[in-house]
Amino acid sequence: MTTYDFIIIGGGSAGCVLAERLSACGKYQVCLLEAGPKDTHWSIHLPLGLIELMKSKTLNWQFNSEQENSQNQRSIFNPRGKVLGGSSSINAMLYVRGQKQDYDHWAELGNSEWSFDKVLPYFKSTEHQERGENEYHGISGELNVADSRSKLPVSDDFITAAHSAGYPLNDDFNGKQQEGIGYYQVTQKNGKRYSAAAAFLTPHLNRPNLTVITEALVQKIIIEEKQAKGVCIKRKGKLQQIFAKQEVILSAGAFNSPQILMLSGIGPQDELNKHDIKIVHNLAGVGKNLQDHVDIMVVNKTTRTDLLAYRPKASWWFIKQAKQYFTQQRGLLTSTVAEAGGFIKSSPELDKPDLQLHFIPAAMDDHGRNNKMLLNYGISLHTCLLRPKSRGSVTLYGNSPSLHPKIQLNLLADNDDQRAMINAVKIGRNILNQHQLAKDKITEIVPSEECQSDEDILAFVKNKANTIYHPVGTCKMGSDELAVVDQQLKVHGIEKLRVVDASIMPTLISGNTNAPTIMIAAKVADDLLNR
Ligand SMILES: Cc1cc2nc3c(=O)[nH]c(=O)nc-3n(C[C@H](O)[C@H](O)[C@H](O)COP(=O)(O)OP(=O)(O)OC[C@H]3O[C@@H](n4cnc5c(N)ncnc54)[C@H](O)[C@@H]3O)c2cc1C
Repeated sequence: MTTYDFIIIGGGSAGCVLAERLSACGKYQVCLLEAGPKDTHWSIHLPLGLIELMKSKTLNWQFNSEQENSQNQRSIFNPRGKVLGGSSSINAMLYVRGQKQDYDHWAELGNSEWSFDKVLPYFKSTEHQERGENEYHGISGELNVADSRSKLPVSDDFITAAHSAGYPLNDDFNGKQQEGIGYYQVTQKNGKRYSAAAAFLTPHLNRPNLTVITEALVQKIIIEEKQAKGVCIKRKGKLQQIFAKQEVILSAGAFNSPQILMLSGIGPQDELNKHDIKIVHNLAGVGKNLQDHVDIMVVNKTTRTDLLAYRPKASWWFIKQAKQYFTQQRGLLTSTVAEAGGFIKSSPELDKPDLQLHFIPAAMDDHGRNNKMLLNYGISLHTCLLRPKSRGSVTLYGNSPSLHPKIQLNLLADNDDQRAMINAVKIGRNILNQHQLAKDKITEIVPSEECQSDEDILAFVKNKANTIYHPVGTCKMGSDELAVVDQQLKVHGIEKLRVVDASIMPTLISGNTNAPTIMIAAKVADDLLNR
């Protein structure tokens, strides 16, 4: 079969939701195309397998950004899922929605259908909250949201340390208020990862009107007379065309969606000309407005030993934990590594949190890929800026679909972001130095005790800051000259084509981006089915 009603490009967080919703009524033939393989690898389902997934060359696109001055000429690693479930199959499973004001701000920007009151029903309807139902939580949705089954003693100590440092406690970051410190809730079920694929796609793979094609790299969208007609894919070395009667929906994520639009001739004229791509529609905003949470870590070495480390004693502990996992589906192997954290105000007069914390029970460096660092027993605290002002872009290296997109993060380009991150280092240090964590002998490995002046801290930040893997904004929703899609997420100037994924967020939400992306897809599917 080569003609469907809907073709969805990308089987990630958004794509899996769309495939489920659009095929549920039985009225439409739906085809989901995914560049990566099926989600059968053990490391996807065992939560602690996320350490392995960071290094995977088959399940992770392993993008690297351009070197830029603001980042001290460093290229920054950008993991993205390349498998059914997309980034929700390799992410840290933290269930976070952001702040009410994030969505009200989208509405103020002219997207009146996306205020918090309008999106809350979709967060609730996609959620199965194990704690039960209330004003903020649903129990009838597909996405299982659970309390963490691993709560290491050191995570408890982090929570009390942050409280001693003056921050309030909070046991539900997605409830009435986001501010506070506590344990994250996770997208897991019975101690296993619950990706968007596990929640929305796998249970429905036998629907006769749902076709899922994996290892299919979309080359471009076929557009005739400013109308999307289908897509061209490459599978097992062969090119093939597939057609859509209703719509093509692009859900390839914040890096690949703008890339695919540009390869299809939709994008900034100068960029398309540069790569000899025939212009179908000059749309200046494609690939612009890239935003991500800039993040910095403070790492302490400690004499405490109930931590993740490549040490002989830790191996025994690990074996005991593995036994607990296989008998009770609990313990360290269910850990997201970032079990505890929170949302804090960098100064008390702010009206809402501007920083997010992720506490790690290990000495972490280079996205967990630095094995040498893990020879130490240590603890690390990530602090990220929730609403950075710096903006980057996605462009092309060339007109071949097999090339990676060209990612310019432009982290820390804005002076306010630099100042905020200097402050973030000081806040991180203060929390890690509270007695609950400092009662065992500690030594700061990163940044190091010599790094004290603001100037030195800024140099350290420019040399070490990364993102926390939440790219958004590159096909933003709106009606201004840089908007790529309208409020229904239809591409401006092209019929029968939508972008539905994290790339449509006009501004970054104040938190992790999986649940918001799932909400976006569920809302658009509802609009599509009720039109
Ligand atoms: C390491 C990591 C940790 C994270 N931790 C968290 C967390 O704890 N909590 C949280 O809320 N968020 C987290 N995130 C972010 C969150 O997972 C993403 O924001 C979300 O999954 C994005 O969904 P998406 O649908 O926009 O894109 P994706 O889920 O990335 O899906 C895009 C899909 O499109 C496919 N694709 C791309 N190009 C093509 C092509 N040419 N042809 C065919 N298919 C293509 C990709 O392979 C992928 O499957 C994390 C992300 C990462 C990478």
